[in-house]
Amino acid sequence: MRFYVTTPIYYVNSTPHIGHAYTTIAADILARHHKQRGEETFFLTGIDEHASGVYRVAQEQGIDPHQYIDEIAVAWKELPERLNARSDFFIRTSDEAHKRFVREFVQRIYDNGDVYEDVYAGFYCVSCEAFYSEDELLEGGLCPIHERPTEWIEEKNYFFRLSAYQDKLLQLYDERPDFVLPGFRYNEARSFIAGGLRDFSISRAGQPWGVPLPWDESQVAYVWVDALPNYLSALTYARPGEDLIPKFWPVVHHLMAKDILRFHCVYWPALLMSAGYDLPKQIFVHGYLLLEDKKISKSRGNVVDPLPLIETYGADPIRFWCARAISFGQDGSSSLDAVHERYERELGNDLGNLVSRTTAMIARYRDGRLTRAEGPPAADLGALRAELVERLDRLDITGAVDAVWQVVRRLNQYVEETAPWQLAKDEARAAELDLVLANLADGLVAVAVALAAYLPETAPQILEALGQSTDLSLDRIRSGAAEPAEGILPAEPLFPRIELPTAAA
Ligand SMILES: [Zn+2]
Repeated sequence: MRFYVTTPIYYVNSTPHIGHAYTTIAADILARHHKQRGEETFFLTGIDEHASGVYRVAQEQGIDPHQYIDEIAVAWKELPERLNARSDFFIRTSDEAHKRFVREFVQRIYDNGDVYEDVYAGFYCVSCEAFYSEDELLEGGLCPIHERPTEWIEEKNYFFRLSAYQDKLLQLYDERPDFVLPGFRYNEARSFIAGGLRDFSISRAGQPWGVPLPWDESQVAYVWVDALPNYLSALTYARPGEDLIPKFWPVVHHLMAKDILRFHCVYWPALLMSAGYDLPKQIFVHGYLLLEDKKISKSRGNVVDPLPLIETYGADPIRFWCARAISFGQDGSSSLDAVHERYERELGNDLGNLVSRTTAMIARYRDGRLTRAEGPPAADLGALRAELVERLDRLDITGAVDAVWQVVRRLNQYVEETAPWQLAKDEARAAELDLVLANLADGLVAVAVALAAYLPETAPQILEALGQSTDLSLDRIRSGAAEPAEGILPAEPLFPRIELPTAAA
């Protein structure tokens, strides 16, 4: 089994914000989880360097665009590292091998008869890199997404015959109801297609920045036709001397925020059909995770920058909050208070204290020795494993972590119900105490393995605290997985208290 997951390539003409972190974290959780299933995985992220805004900003600052993007690329490469997101490749569209691939890709479309020349006239939003018709604009000619002025542009362009793919796309959507998730995004994409498709421009004239078309070097590939093929091109050169396309295409899951749904759910499959490639396995469109405490964000200024949050809490708590704050796929808002509350109440109290208590009781009542004991388990761990797999098969990263948290809460309840401190007072109840401690250890091994994709730093710490191997295979989510161990000491707090700097009024 193989699993390939992508984030969009992010525009370098902005700086990383929490939205980028959100998609990157989700992709990393999925990649790590599938690795735990023993699958061969590939996780791709990167940056789009050919946005026309890049050239414009570089010119404004009077620097070479290559130098400009090299400087900006540093912050973008840092983002996945700081989030502890382990991508297998970081693509940059200025890579020579990518540019070569794009030229081959558009040539295939051209050879297939799907490209023609025409004059393009329309309202262009530089930030969207997209044209709008008059009826799509907001009052005053503003871009419907950015609410900023658009420009009227008229030029000779090459067009892709998207209109010729309407029936094929509808057929695709009808045959594959899980091609786009969640369902309401599938419906949105399908009704856009059913409403009639207009051909779109695949080139820009008079732009020195981009990939020149092979049949007309005076034009460069329009940014989406340059960007979307990154999902394929990266596979051709990510591992030198090896073409990964036969391995990982088309078992790909594209993740993205809703603002680029149309490009991925409509343009991309049509371009792939024209170029003669198989279609992606799945496209997952998520909503926006918004931070709503404006008062705090004003006083801290850069609050949507995820790096200060990681500095305060560490990567694991931010990954956890992103997965849990809103249901993945839906729109929703959270707050900095919620980040802090989840850190203290859920990670600190629910999970951290459970690890501290369990290890402390083993140390105190059993001299650090964990033994096996037969008896009814504290929680149905087999059911947890099944639910985790089933939910993550649907890319429901929120539902999956919720299921783990129910077990965490169940284990805490089990401690209260069984009161091991009472059992420890009575030598006649030694076997009962051994069973409670073994059940708690099994539960924590299961929870650590199930959370490893979400909390990659914390999970091995939990296993080590219990004297267990750090193997993360999902088979360990079962009763009886905790091995006998010795020398267990009371664990240090996994999530120590953090004093927040008080926000200025
Ligand atoms: Zn726009």
